[in-house]
Amino acid sequence: MPAGPEIILTNARVHGADTGVSAVGIANGVITATGPDTEILQYRGENTEIIDCKGCALIPGIVDDHLHLFAAAAARMAADCRPAATPAVESVLSALRESQPRRDGWIRGYGYDDSPLGLGRHLTRHDLDTVARERPVRVEHRSGHACVMNGAGLAAAGIGRDTPDPPGGTIARDAHGEPTGLLLDMESWLRQRIATRVDAGEFRSAIRDLADALLSYGITAVTDAGADNGIDRWRAFEELLAEGAIPLRVNMMVGAGQLDELRREGFRYGDLSADGLLTLGPAKIMLTVSSGSMHPDFDTLCRIIAGAHDVGFPVAIHAVEREAVVASALALMDHPAPIGDDRIEHCGEGPPDVGELVAASGARVVTNTGFLHYDGERYRRTVASDLLPHLYAAGALDALGVRVSLGSDAPVVEPNPWAAMAAAVERRTAEGHALGGAGLPSVPHALSKHTGSHRIALGQPADLAVVQPDPLFTKPRLLPEIRSVLTVVAGKVVWRDGV
Ligand SMILES: [Zn+2]
Repeated sequence: MPAGPEIILTNARVHGADTGVSAVGIANGVITATGPDTEILQYRGENTEIIDCKGCALIPGIVDDHLHLFAAAAARMAADCRPAATPAVESVLSALRESQPRRDGWIRGYGYDDSPLGLGRHLTRHDLDTVARERPVRVEHRSGHACVMNGAGLAAAGIGRDTPDPPGGTIARDAHGEPTGLLLDMESWLRQRIATRVDAGEFRSAIRDLADALLSYGITAVTDAGADNGIDRWRAFEELLAEGAIPLRVNMMVGAGQLDELRREGFRYGDLSADGLLTLGPAKIMLTVSSGSMHPDFDTLCRIIAGAHDVGFPVAIHAVEREAVVASALALMDHPAPIGDDRIEHCGEGPPDVGELVAASGARVVTNTGFLHYDGERYRRTVASDLLPHLYAAGALDALGVRVSLGSDAPVVEPNPWAAMAAAVERRTAEGHALGGAGLPSVPHALSKHTGSHRIALGQPADLAVVQPDPLFTKPRLLPEIRSVLTVVAGKVVWRDGV
């Protein structure tokens, strides 16, 4: 008698399958049988594990098509000082007081915002001295270009009133010339001076923790969008995947600046790790607009795109502002992808005229409707009312025929794909306020934008999740509560909670 499937899932509401299908057989990482329970159970072998899904929904595994795994893991080792979590100076300080120091002795926080809609001012060393006097404290600004330290932190970094500003960096000082604790653009200078090497074991447990959070949402695959990803990051991912610290599929973008280095090592687009869980993705290009000018300029952008295409890599262009999205679309029209698909990341501002250009470019848009859910209240206060309906406009872009998929951009916001789907359909903030604009037409439609090519069908990779409540019968505003009770990646159960 043949061995039978390794796993049989029974008693499930199988999304996208014919009526009567309630069971799925899995062997060697793929779906080998689908049908009614009674039929599929006949295939059971001696070692088949039978899992009763208790009538829950069985959906294709969710793909988070844009996030930053290392930064999101590091954020889990620090206090959350983003305005949504800590809207006042005092709440930032109490979050820091309550957080565990890291094994290197530092108390760390991330995401504070000095803007009038964040805290209204920069933190100072004196604020942070109230968190700890003996122990160094450091809080990162949400821009990634500044941090604030307490007195012990400044001392550990060797910064005093006589320390000159390093090239390219600024030590903010008060009227008496004393450092205020605010350090601007000093990341690499600080790295050379303070032993803030993250403890390897501590980092692994943070990344494992993050992976569990992703699996608990039913996510089975992610795209890491690091703009500096190169050979070192590839090796780090290989190791983390091989030892099971990241038990899901990772598609790693390559920094456009790191393409040469990877090519010299013989890498090509689409390469797989030995276990098949890690793939080499498109070349990431950062296109930013600051103080009115675009970096890089249009000609340079075209040159970078052509360079990546020449060596067989599609591109993924970071473009948030209207000007950047337009430039990306125009550049991609001039340079169609010879292989795979070119992507525009974020597409933050997408009014109809911009959407039409994007549609004409043929690029896929990977947008972040989760921002509408988590940061929507801030948008309501800061964004012009005529632009608000066109922010992260998944629905409008989809209606124009643009291929749209969703990514969280974690750690910018929580990687809860159900919150992103709720906002993609309803265009409401977490507090329930409408932002206007066209949403995606339905929850199943939104789910299809968040599950990539995954399907529950014979011969497909067994990347799937059993979730509750069933998204098809859940009001959009309650979608963010959905969790996975069973997540399967490449035929292996990697998350189980309640079945
Ligand atoms: Zn990103």
